[in-house]
Order: sequence, then structure tokens, then C-alpha cells
Amino acid sequence: MSQPGMTSVPAEGKKMANTLKRLLDIFTALDGHSFDEYQTVKAKTFCHEKYQICFVHVQGSPGALPASVCRIRLNLAELGLGEDCLSSKARSMATADFLVRTFDKGVRVHARQNRGAQGSGSFQPAGLPPQVLERNLVRFTRTHVRITFHISLPGSAQNRILGRQAARMFDREISGIIDHIKDCVGRDGQLKKQCDVVEDMLDLQNRLDQLGLIGFVGDGAILPRRSGISQEPLKGAVPFYAPQKMAVEITLPNAGKIRGMGIRPGVTLVIGGGFHGKSALVEAVAKGIYPHIPGDGREQVVTHSEAIYIGAEPGRAVTGLDISGFMDTLPGDVDTTKFSTQNASGSTSEAAAVIEAVLGGARLLLMDEDSSAANFLIKDQNMRKLIPEDAITPFFDRVRELSEKFGVSTLMAAGGNSGYLGMADHVIAMQTYLPADMTDPVRKCVLPHPPEPNKPLIIGDRRQLLEDNFDPSYWANRLKKKIGVRIKPLRGQENILEYGNQHLDLTTFSALVDPHQVTALGYALLFSKTKLKNAFISPSGLARAVCRRMEKEGLEILLPPGHAPIFFAGVRCLELAGVINRFRNLKIRPFQARDGAGHDSLA
Ligand code: ADP
Ligand code: MG
Repeated sequence: MSQPGMTSVPAEGKKMANTLKRLLDIFTALDGHSFDEYQTVKAKTFCHEKYQICFVHVQGSPGALPASVCRIRLNLAELGLGEDCLSSKARSMATADFLVRTFDKGVRVHARQNRGAQGSGSFQPAGLPPQVLERNLVRFTRTHVRITFHISLPGSAQNRILGRQAARMFDREISGIIDHIKDCVGRDGQLKKQCDVVEDMLDLQNRLDQLGLIGFVGDGAILPRRSGISQEPLKGAVPFYAPQKMAVEITLPNAGKIRGMGIRPGVTLVIGGGFHGKSALVEAVAKGIYPHIPGDGREQVVTHSEAIYIGAEPGRAVTGLDISGFMDTLPGDVDTTKFSTQNASGSTSEAAAVIEAVLGGARLLLMDEDSSAANFLIKDQNMRKLIPEDAITPFFDRVRELSEKFGVSTLMAAGGNSGYLGMADHVIAMQTYLPADMTDPVRKCVLPHPPEPNKPLIIGDRRQLLEDNFDPSYWANRLKKKIGVRIKPLRGQENILEYGNQHLDLTTFSALVDPHQVTALGYALLFSKTKLKNAFISPSGLARAVCRRMEKEGLEILLPPGHAPIFFAGVRCLELAGVINRFRNLKIRPFQARDGAGHDSLA
């Protein structure tokens, strides 16, 4: 296996075989010099008997963001990493995640932080969520592992090097961090447990179709989080236990036989009183597209990889999308077969989200009354009579069609209206945080059925993107100049992507659990520009083409040539299509005849 990055270290650096002692001497000698002189170590590698450190990028000032980027190369045997940790893609991903997490913990235990001006003189932890994602921070070869991390080199308010502090960081502190990683790798089978859990989850996810399931929630799972702003499991929560009628037994490669609730394809409703745990269940299922670390509580919540949470997003942009399946002519004779707006309403935004999700390959829609537009979900008999001119065909009228004709299932939390019960294949009632199977009792009730829609649902996309899309440049008002590329999560609100002059609000994307995914989406957008030349491609077609490249060649494909490393985490085609679809002023070719070339039609 080749090891890109390490091989790119200049030959000169290799020949000179700088020792770590030399690095410490350089830093000590630079004490009090201008901050720029840190550049001396750029692209150089320094060797300790147990590891090597390479400075891939060196920051220009103490408070610079991104800070410096270092790579540390360690021997697998020296770290105690056996073959078992790298024997499959799932186990390698789990091991990589484990190393970054223990690096972060090592920083907390061994490093003094913020010793310079503007927060400099700090190791910058990656801060991983409890989900285990594919990342470009860690690379394995047969014999070594390379971990990339951010570090802010220490400087003073006068822009001077704090050389002695820098030497300390690369002497005692870094060895403390490495020893910490080594300890954790060797301790009580922690790493093996993480590999087992991740491998089991991904194995089951791959087998869901075969098992006739679209999701699974294991007995004993802890679904709720400690608070609305925490990803920690809620202490003292009632563990999940599947009702007998919905229970399935599954054999996992490592955990062996487990029991839990099987969610079957079709329409599943989660009903129950307020505060009984409906939303907690739907949210956990939404996160079940990813493996979780041991101790999270959701290790055995496993959801189809193409599940997507759908909610209302008033204010979003929509460009040229055919939403006529849910909206007939809107006021002002707006043609909803090519609907554009800079400011969608709750219902139009949700209609667009459903159509885009289906076009992007979604197999399961996750919805919750709490976050949906009421008039998109359902329209009662009186309203149908009173306002016959209302253009909305509510989701209620289409939910079965989506399942039967398009193979797109729905799991919805609905406590307030009984309307959907007549549509459901399965009904789960949450009662004091425990599920009960209510499918049969509900079948015995007389329930409303929607009127036959006046036309069948057609989901198709005639849009073809023009070449001139996704300009990443930015007019910096403060500097009075244009900056070539601005792509980053907005500081403090990291599910908002700053792309060129736009702020793309991705806060409803429940699949985004890490700002490194938001960065990846931004660079995927930039990368997608290369695919637009002479192409006749729709937003989801473009997303698919980019994701195929990512799958084949890894996340590094997103890094612009010659660019310093950027930290990326894995994203799905559904989210990339979501970003493209929300791009303001998306440029599309003028429409041809209805069945023109490039028409993606699913109906
Ligand atoms: P609903 O959607 O039914 O109104 P939520 O899912 O929002 O209810 O949950 C209501 C409250 O109960 C939340 O504070 C949540 O953290 C808590 N909760 C959810 N599930 C459990 C559980 N299994 N054990 C204990 N508390 C829970
Ligand atoms: Mg709720």
C-alpha cells in the first residue's frame, strides 16, 4: 500500500534525517524571533526513535485559522495495533476513529493549552461526535499509521515566536499524548470493542434489505440525549425494549444473537402522548445511518443507509424544481412544474425536500409533526370543502403512493392527528418511553382515507445545470478585495456553510453530525464544477457523479491540487444533492420540451 503524504516529504528533508532534538533546538533558537520564521520547519520531517513528525502547513500568525497542520507517523507494532484492528474496512475506520479520539484525550491529559496570544500554543482537538465516520485524518500502511492534526504554534501578542513553549509542546507533551494513545490501545480491549461494534453495525446495515427491514432498534438501546445541546446519552433513561409482535432476532458477526424492533418497509407511524419519547425514537433512527461508539447507547440502532430526515425549511431557495405532485398552480399563476423561489414557505420547502430526497435515492423518509409544516402533512375534510382552490396535495394523499410506486418508506412521529393511522402499515405507540405495537387495534378503527389524488405522483427532474455554477469567490468588504475561495462552516453555527458569498443553511440536515462533513460538502461543490463542463446533468445526477469518485478514490479527491490539507468527514449523495438544490441562484438551462434529453424520471 502506498503512503501518500509521507512520500511527498522533500528528499532533502529525508536525506538530512533531522532528529527531534534538532526541532527542539530550532524552536529554542527561534525564541523571540518574528512569527514568520516558524516557516523554517515547513515541509520538514523530524525523527524520534518511536515516531516522526512532519510540518505540512505552518500558520502565518498566532491567531491564524486554520492553524498549522502536522503529521505524526507511528509504527503499528510499536503502538500495539494488531492485524485484527485493520482486517476489514469497517475495522480500519473504527481504529482510525479510536486513534483520533484518544489523541484528543491525550491532549486533554498532557497538554497545556492557550499558552500564547489569541489561543495559540494549543493542540487543536478534532472534537469528534459519537458517530464513527470515514475521515481523512488517519492513513494506514502495512507497517505504519499517520495521524494528521491541527496545532496552533505559540506566539506573543507582538507576533513573536514563543520558542521555548513550542519546544515543550513537541517534547514532553507530544510524547505524553503518544503514550496515552498506546495505553488506550492496550487497555481492556477498548479498541477491539469499538471495532466489533462498528463492524456489527455496518454488517447489519448491509443486510437490512435481505432481512426485509428498513431499520432496527436493539433492546437496551438508550435513545434520548442528555439535553437538546448534548450528544451524551441521557442518564437514567428507560432502555428500549421491542414489543413482542415487532421483535426480531438477528445474529451479528461479533455480538452474536441480539433482539430488537424491526422496522419494516412501508408506512410506519409513531404515535403517543406528548413527552413519551416519539421524537427521541425518530431522531435516533435518523442517526442510525452511522455507527456509534461503544457507550453511546445507539450502537444497535441501525437504519437504511439512504434514510433522510425531512422537515420544513421556510426561507430556503428552490430553483426550477417540479413540485407539481404536491402543489398545483400557486398564486400569481406560478407554474409548479418549474418552481423557483428565493423564499420558500413551510409547505413548499417540505414538498421540495421530499421530491429532492426521492430524486437523490432516498429509501426512507423520517418525519416528525414537531418539525413539519402542518398544512403539508394533512388537510382535513372541512378545509378540503371550504378552500377547494388550495393548491396543496398534502403528503397524506401521497404517502402510500410513495411507498407502493416508488419504494420509498416513511417513518413518522404523529401525536396530534389520527388521519395518518389509516395510511399506516405499522403503528408503534410510545408509552412512557416504551414502544407498543398498535397495528392491530388501529386496523379495527374506522379511519379516514384520502380522496383519490386528481393525478398520479410524478417525480422527475428535467433540470440541467449550467457550467457557470458554484462560484466560490468572495468579496471581502472589510479588505475591499475579492478572495478566490471561501469555503468553511460558519464559526459558531457550524451547520451553516459559507460558500463564496452565500450562507447555505444546512441546519435541518440531521445527517450532518460533524463540521468536517460541512467542509467536505463545500469542497465537493467546488469539485463538482469540474463535472459540469459540457454536461447535461441534474443536481442529483451531479451529486451521484461526485460521490462515485469519492467512493472510488477517497475523500482526498476533494482537496484542490496543491492545497494544504483540509479535514474532511464522509458525506452522502443525499446531502450533496441537498446542498446543490439549496444553492441560491442555481443556474439551469432553459427548459426544453417535457421529455427532452437528460430527463430523470422515476415515475
Ligand atoms: P415526544 O416527541 O413524544 O413529545 P420526546 O421524544 O421529545 O417526546 O421526549 C420527551 C422527553 O422525554 C425529552 O426530554 C426526552 O429526553 C425524554 N425521553 C425520551 N426518551 C426517553 C427515555 N427512553 N427515557 C427517559 N427519558 C426519555
Ligand atoms: Mg416530539
